[in-house]
Amino acid sequence: MSQLRQLLKSAFTVVLPKSLLLTRGPRLAIADEPIEIALTFDDGPHPEHTPRLLDVLANAGVRGTFFVIGERAEQHPELIRRIADDGHELGNHTWTHSEPSLTSAVRFLGEVALTRRLIQDLTGRDCRLTRPPKGALTIGKSLGLWRQQQTVVLWNIDPKDFTMPDTDAMSQWIRGYRPQSGDIVLLHDNHSRAVIAVEQLVEDHALRFATLSNWLRPTESPPFPVRELEVADVR
Ligand SMILES: [Zn+2]
Repeated sequence: MSQLRQLLKSAFTVVLPKSLLLTRGPRLAIADEPIEIALTFDDGPHPEHTPRLLDVLANAGVRGTFFVIGERAEQHPELIRRIADDGHELGNHTWTHSEPSLTSAVRFLGEVALTRRLIQDLTGRDCRLTRPPKGALTIGKSLGLWRQQQTVVLWNIDPKDFTMPDTDAMSQWIRGYRPQSGDIVLLHDNHSRAVIAVEQLVEDHALRFATLSNWLRPTESPPFPVRELEVADVR
């Protein structure tokens, strides 16, 4: 089953424009230019780990994209404002991070709309990037996201940081990682491993860090008719 999902993901990645589905950035490496990758941080904001990560990113001059959970963002609005003020990008990771297989398309899309509205209220910016929990989608959920003008963002590099027993395991993974231009790395800022990952990445590799919008053409118009936001009552 997972092989079939992987095959479908690969097929969709080839067929769909990256304004609809982004699984990695441009592979083309420019001679004498550093490799450019994107760091993404899911499941925050977290009151302890997110500020620490933001400090480390600021010290290293690294920008990333934070896929935040709406109900956590509502609890820590100051962190959402800081993420934006520090020059990072915000993405939508639904309101409750509910289990995809138990979540209807209507509820899922309502959660995305509600989180989008909160991010807009807190930062004054419209959020057009959505990462579904676990990367799991159905056709109905995908079509609904595209009607909401959302780019579905997945990843191609997954250290599975949340399964690592300690920060040493994270350091070790980074030492073995061979970055390629366009990599989208999946990390989580609701625990301490993301901090170690960033510190080690900057120490080990001469990299450039893109936000995801750097890799999307912002002027591209959506190919599906745009509807009013559908905000279901998901609280
Ligand atoms: Zn998640």
